[in-house]
Amino acid sequence: MTASRRQCAAHGCQNYANKCPAQTRFHRFPANRERCEDWARHIFRSDLLGKKNKARWKNAVVCSHHFPDSMYVCPDQRHEPGVRLMPTAYPTLQLYKERAEPYRCS
Ligand SMILES: [Zn+2]
Repeated sequence: MTASRRQCAAHGCQNYANKCPAQTRFHRFPANRERCEDWARHIFRSDLLGKKNKARWKNAVVCSHHFPDSMYVCPDQRHEPGVRLMPTAYPTLQLYKERAEPYRCS
């Protein structure tokens, strides 16, 4: 899969890297398994839980629309390439069950 075809892993989110404005960032899951599972729960993807699914979340990304400014190391630069999330960050915004419709950036 090329980077440009990446889709946000959050349940109900239809943001693709190649269809969103450039300022939408796509964040890889954390390296730590417990934190990955925490992300998976927050984005309503219980199918990603469990050690056997490691390969799936290794390639999964979550778009920046689910992260508030406070979860970025440099909130002012949250739209810049290479911007980093705080080590403790997890997705909290625009998630399934808060929304009646699938989510899209545009
Ligand atoms: Zn998303």
